[in-house]
Amino acid sequence: MSDNILNIEDLFIQFNTDDGVVKALNGVSLNIKRGKTLGLVGETGAGKTTTARSILRLVQSPPGEIVRGQITLDNMDIMGMSENDVEKIRGSVVSMIFQDPMTALNPVISVGEQIAEAIAIHKEMPLKEAMVEAEKMLEMVGIPGSRKNEYPHQFSGGMKQRVIIAIALSCSPKLLIADEPTTALDVTIQAQVLELMKKLKEEMNMSMLMITHDLGVVVEVCDEVAIMYAGRIVEKGNLVDIYRHTKHPYTEGLFNSIPNIDDRKAVLKPIKGLMSDPSKLPEGCAFYDRCEYAMIDCKNKQPEVLKLSETHTVACHLYQNDPEFKLDMLKE
Ligand code: SF4
Repeated sequence: MSDNILNIEDLFIQFNTDDGVVKALNGVSLNIKRGKTLGLVGETGAGKTTTARSILRLVQSPPGEIVRGQITLDNMDIMGMSENDVEKIRGSVVSMIFQDPMTALNPVISVGEQIAEAIAIHKEMPLKEAMVEAEKMLEMVGIPGSRKNEYPHQFSGGMKQRVIIAIALSCSPKLLIADEPTTALDVTIQAQVLELMKKLKEEMNMSMLMITHDLGVVVEVCDEVAIMYAGRIVEKGNLVDIYRHTKHPYTEGLFNSIPNIDDRKAVLKPIKGLMSDPSKLPEGCAFYDRCEYAMIDCKNKQPEVLKLSETHTVACHLYQNDPEFKLDMLKE
């Protein structure tokens, strides 16, 4: 059995629209070790959600087209599976929590029944028995089981997200994908939901892909981090690699644009400009127009992924000739 629950190799996905070809993923490679949590970080439009949907084979075709690449989930070749088989692994092997709990639940079905339906389908169990399991799931996410007959409007945003988590975990998936699970919640509730997810992940011995634009969320729950920009992974490493030995100028830009608790006087410095239009990606580095370290090579040549250590990779020309290079060197 592979050490990795998930392997994505050189994945290219595009959307063929009336306005042209939108290149959403441009050679994404990443893996998640069993029992670990990977944070996938980047701005809106970087390709994070497309990556997640591709794992569940939920990229709609047309307009979506998988140009090439491979996805192996729990030793299964996702691309080569029949639709029937994919249907069976959704929920039982891999499950996904979406961003907005307000719209993910059916307003006219009780929360208990919504959890029970997922259990009944995947475990081929009568709905009555599944209701007993659903009650246990509610308790597990910190909601009294006695509330099983209540409807989504009777719950707060944070409670609704707990119900979504209960549905996602009801069939004990091996991999949980959480797409910005706390973005729509109040800050105080965010921390509670993250803590709950972390606890359940440990208890159920799951792996997790946490999609976020928030580096604060990553440090709370993740073991490894992949930074995504314009459909590519530009830097990947463990928390120490990314937070203490930042290599990619885009990763540095993300850190510079959030408050630093160790240096309260530091001025926030947002990354200039906008991400390249995915239908007009440049030939060279996609970050070229926004990068304060850009060199002539960067305009014409796409940087390869370089292995800096056993745990740390980066795709940037600055490290091509000198893996020891530090971003600070150019500022001294
Ligand atoms: Fe900047 Fe060049 Fe590195 Fe791209 S390859 S991030 S433009 S230095």
